[in-house]
Amino acid sequence: MSTFQDLGLNNDLLQAITDLGFTKPSEVQEKAIPILLGSEGDLVALAQTGTGKTAAFGFPMLEKIDVNSKTTQGLILSPTRELCLQITNEMKLYGKYCKGLNVVAVYGGSSISEQARDVKRGAQIIVATPGRMKDMISRRMVDISKIQYSVLDEADEMLNMGFKEDITNILSHTPDDKSTWLFSATMPREVSAIAKNFMHDPQEITVGNKNESTSNVSHEYYLVNARDRYQSLKRLADANPDIFSVIFCRTKRDTQKVAEKLIEDGYNAGALHGDLSQNQRDLVMNAFRKNQIQMLVATDVAARGIDVDDVTHVINYQLPDEIETYTHRSGRTGRAGKTGVSMVIVSKSEVRKIKSIERIIKRKFEKKDIPDGMEICEVQLMSLANKINNTEINHEIDKYLSSINELFEDTSKDELIKKFFSVEFTRFYDYYKKAKNLNVSADGGRDDSERVSNSKSTRYFINVGSKDGYDWMTLKDFLKDQLQLGQDDVFKVEVKDSFSFFNTENELKEKVIDFFTDFKNNGRFVNVEVSENRGGGGKRRGDRNRGSGRRRDDRKGGGKRRSEGASKPRRSNSNSGGSNAFKPRRSRR
Ligand code: ADP
Ligand code: MG
Repeated sequence: MSTFQDLGLNNDLLQAITDLGFTKPSEVQEKAIPILLGSEGDLVALAQTGTGKTAAFGFPMLEKIDVNSKTTQGLILSPTRELCLQITNEMKLYGKYCKGLNVVAVYGGSSISEQARDVKRGAQIIVATPGRMKDMISRRMVDISKIQYSVLDEADEMLNMGFKEDITNILSHTPDDKSTWLFSATMPREVSAIAKNFMHDPQEITVGNKNESTSNVSHEYYLVNARDRYQSLKRLADANPDIFSVIFCRTKRDTQKVAEKLIEDGYNAGALHGDLSQNQRDLVMNAFRKNQIQMLVATDVAARGIDVDDVTHVINYQLPDEIETYTHRSGRTGRAGKTGVSMVIVSKSEVRKIKSIERIIKRKFEKKDIPDGMEICEVQLMSLANKINNTEINHEIDKYLSSINELFEDTSKDELIKKFFSVEFTRFYDYYKKAKNLNVSADGGRDDSERVSNSKSTRYFINVGSKDGYDWMTLKDFLKDQLQLGQDDVFKVEVKDSFSFFNTENELKEKVIDFFTDFKNNGRFVNVEVSENRGGGGKRRGDRNRGSGRRRDDRKGGGKRRSEGASKPRRSNSNSGGSNAFKPRRSRR
């Protein structure tokens, strides 16, 4: 394993790398940087999203250009405005010690004359979307006749989006002897064609297997009736109180609709798609980056390449038309070494697609059940309990303590706890007490034949979760190892942020509880308790309530205007907030 020094970068760049906190190069960087620094040839690099491609081409370009000249020497083409801005920002960070460096972003939906002015001031590097670039060339607002380095980033996506003509046109204005560096997650025929037609004998590098998804993402699917899609989405969100997610829909219209409904139902949601203005998209993205939006509902195109590190869940509200796209979607989570979950909500007519996706990503999906109402109530309750337990006391409260104490003089501790929790819990309980089972079995009808519903199993609560580095697979392994159990003895493992649930057969209950009495892991007591809920599909057949009642009578900030409510804190002044109301504002950074 080499270091950035070994790769041959100069001190200005190394200093910026240190500031960024990159300790060692990623695989694509390790492979691409020496090639790009060492030769003037062309390169085709295949690497999934989240592997650090921007730095793989960014650092060599910065090393090679002449900052003392005002001539445009590097051109980076990328499919979307968001990506274009993201790359521009990264390049500025990478080059922050390169005195005189000027990187300019050129993209649609923003003033073309302002961008032209910025370019005129002497941009050594232009980062552009193809449409706007072509436009500026035809209006003679840019001169790319002297560029030495061109990058086609997310080449497969640019071609998917129909930019082939524009790219051809743009490249025809560049010198023949420039170097072209093509980066792509996949290598469909159109990309090979570009490589063949526009590049000279390129070196090729591949990181991981083509199209394969990262191993720290687990894949799950949920089989429901198509009409229950939205309810299912809400339950998945409610069952994961700390969710920070991208939700993919197939069309702009669905994207907008789902986001609006979520906002109306009290979630911190926002929409991202091509029908929004640039300004609206920026607002939504900023809110998402700041974690003010927990559920970003997006189209594939708009979300492509978006680089937000802490995404915990990707939810495929609908599967993409082209199953290859699934790789890009699931690549929004499990970034920067973190674990993530990619969930797919499928109806019976789509379920065969899961098999095709498994072949492409070379990973197995786990079929899971949409949690039932009581399971969600329990998760939310335990999540709240954990948060309270971890809360630092604010001593400003001390001065009110005597009057509060007076009020509760005759209330026992038990009673007080119950009252306190009921403030939040009752809202959930009222909403979910009559919720039906949304799961459909593969052979038809609702799925109530789960092993968990025959009351032979015990469900447990354990106070370790993804914060402790577990996902359902590693937690299952951990439990199996510790308890010396067989492959199928631990099931229904659900990992949340700071706690988890799992099931065993009833016979094992004593063993499990005994084992974890006084058990410490990394110096911390691991606490296991029997959960009231047995987990998995409910047994509420015949229950007519669709669970679609509104849980929020205060609709301030509701999505009446596009993405407007999105950036607002969710429960500014309401105590009747939506399902995620347990959550305090989070600060992940
Ligand atoms: P890609 O273009 O392959 O999808 P990005 O270039 O957007 O990936 O990088 C993904 C994330 O990883 C970014 O947040 C980036 O800052 C970070 N990153 C890139 N290289 C490194 C590194 N060597 N060490 C740590 N983090 C890195
Ligand atoms: Mg990228």
